[in-house]
Amino acid sequence: MLEQEHKGQLGGSPTFAVLEKARIETLKASLRGELFQPDDEGYNAARKVYNAMIDKHPALIVRCADVADVIAAVNFGRENGLLVSIRSGGHISTTGVGGLTLGGGLGHLTRKCGLAIDNLIAADVVLADGRFVTADERHHEDLLWALRGGGGNFGVVTSFVFKAHPIHTDYAGPMLWELDQAPEVMKWYREFIRQAPDDINGFFLFLVVPPGPPFPEHLHNKKMCGVVWCYTGPLEKAEETFKPIRGFLTPALDFVGPIPHPALQSMFDPLYPPGLQWYWKADFVNELSDDAIRLHVKHGSQLPTMQSSMHLYPVNGAAHRVGKNDTAWSYRDATWAEVIVGVDPDPANKDLIVDWARKYWEDLHPYSAGGAYVNFMMEEGEERVKASYRDNYERLAAIKSKYDPANFFRVNQNIKPTT
Ligand SMILES: Cc1cc2nc3c(=O)[nH]c(=O)nc-3n(C[C@H](O)[C@H](O)[C@H](O)COP(=O)(O)OP(=O)(O)OC[C@H]3O[C@@H](n4cnc5c(N)ncnc54)[C@H](O)[C@@H]3O)c2cc1C
Repeated sequence: MLEQEHKGQLGGSPTFAVLEKARIETLKASLRGELFQPDDEGYNAARKVYNAMIDKHPALIVRCADVADVIAAVNFGRENGLLVSIRSGGHISTTGVGGLTLGGGLGHLTRKCGLAIDNLIAADVVLADGRFVTADERHHEDLLWALRGGGGNFGVVTSFVFKAHPIHTDYAGPMLWELDQAPEVMKWYREFIRQAPDDINGFFLFLVVPPGPPFPEHLHNKKMCGVVWCYTGPLEKAEETFKPIRGFLTPALDFVGPIPHPALQSMFDPLYPPGLQWYWKADFVNELSDDAIRLHVKHGSQLPTMQSSMHLYPVNGAAHRVGKNDTAWSYRDATWAEVIVGVDPDPANKDLIVDWARKYWEDLHPYSAGGAYVNFMMEEGEERVKASYRDNYERLAAIKSKYDPANFFRVNQNIKPTT
């Protein structure tokens, strides 16, 4: 889907309005997909995004059915001076492959297979001037480099070619411990994940146990800490592999076992339906010092709502073996991508979740590596984007100047053209 936000040029004199109407009708007639204007049935559903904290009213929404629709919409937006934003998919297990990949793409397989971008071989892209190009190792290599982490800055990607990995059944799921054991768990986890084989992924989290099955009643609504594991080695070796994990400190809940990979991917879907308020803060982290752990436990113990959480996603293993200048994604030396999310269905709780996430982040930021994973950030300004790309920023800005000199694609973690 491609959305076009009203910048103020539409409307005006009756003649202009008639002309605009005629132009919009011409665009609509050229599309195989749908076009929505504010009075159309379906407009409200089409304009809503996953995070209800973002509430925009675009002048036009084009739900593109094919590449020709994307070209028509981009040309229309450019020729009419409209502010254009790109929308790809949805979230959770249905997180759009577009945004997730272009920002980097972390997941349960990061330690084994690298980031999504490490497996991106080629992409078809509609550029700001309406041209349609393929970026791969032999064509527009600079564009492919930039798409590997540079987000939606360079054009609308209409197809991706990925290297695939044969993964079927994981040995995976959450293990939870009592909150007063969190310092011990974090100290053990920080050592474990650094030397763990690539077949084992595990992200640390603070959570409130959801009040329903499959969780046992005595844990409902309890604040706890945990690790969500994903082992993709030989299944017959799984129990043996997990012996030291289970042995270091018996968990209060152990849901780790054989599970089809898509089931693991969608495990948290019921907890996070679309339409919640989300407030995100993030950082990359190299070291988890005892002091940082103390602060994590302090803020993790104050989770403000049932869906709020803090995750530490490992970005080592295979993701570390790619050079920091080989793709736009600079933080190859970080051990974790930290994300603090305040989440709640009720807009009246906005201040509560925002305040908690900000305070948590402010206390931990001095212990961070500086920048953050762009897919875990909200609008934080140019300096923060630069800090996230570090010495890759200049090259990204030069590629932006080449492919999008007018900064047409700017509703994103924006990389400004140099000219
Ligand atoms: C519940 C939840 C869980 C998440 N878990 C993870 C996770 O495990 N790992 C992880 O890495 N991230 C995760 N994320 C973050 C996620 O990667 C980002 O929110 C990402 O932007 C989602 O992409 P999207 O295409 O679904 O979203 P959209 O809102 O459709 O797109 C986001 C932005 O990406 C760009 N974009 C999207 N599609 C295209 C395209 N085709 N061409 C050009 N630009 C495009 C645009 O700039 C757009 O504004 C999670 C987010 C949520 C809400």
